[in-house]
Amino acid sequence: MTSGHHQGGLEVVVGSMFSGKSEELIRRVRRAVIARRTVQVFKPAIDDRFGIELVRSHDGDTFVARPVRSSAEILALLSPETSVVGVDEVQFFDPAIVGVVRDLVADGRRVICAGLDLDFRGEPFGPVPTLLALAERVDKLEAICVVCGESATRTQRIVNGVPAYYDDPIIVIGAQEAYEARCRTCHVVPRRARSGSAATSETASPERVSSAEPRD
Ligand SMILES: [Zn+2]
Repeated sequence: MTSGHHQGGLEVVVGSMFSGKSEELIRRVRRAVIARRTVQVFKPAIDDRFGIELVRSHDGDTFVARPVRSSAEILALLSPETSVVGVDEVQFFDPAIVGVVRDLVADGRRVICAGLDLDFRGEPFGPVPTLLALAERVDKLEAICVVCGESATRTQRIVNGVPAYYDDPIIVIGAQEAYEARCRTCHVVPRRARSGSAATSETASPERVSSAEPRD
């Protein structure tokens, strides 16, 4: 594979929905084009919110992107002369995306991944935590909380007008769904009370307990 004269590196842009991740990805790949780098952008084919061939920010800015069904397809479709690779909605990729990204960087390419760091429950999303750890550069963008106006780091899922439950299926057939940017305080993820147990929204997961008590 080509290596070019530039050292490879991984950049990861994360944040909640409406934090401007796709906008930032588009900005970086546009600059690479101006610098006469050969750029390819990929996105998971399951994300069809905005049609198939574009990365589109919520502001309506676009850049051509190739939809792929798997991370392996990125390697199959890669042109030898490509030196900058963008990956949008990276949270939806299979775990093998981590190896694919490492290979691209090892070959001297600049890789820019954008995606959600947390799912609607506030839990780390798919391969993103690993990519964040491996990255040379991480940018965590913030949106504005629609409830209180503070910086938003979480994505609130609303199903039929009320906050989605922790264990709600990813797709609720026939439901009216919406997503909002919210801060940690205004982000609500109720848990269903189980018969015979005291599971409520206050029953924190172990990692949440530990993160609430910083050691240093
Ligand atoms: Zn808030």
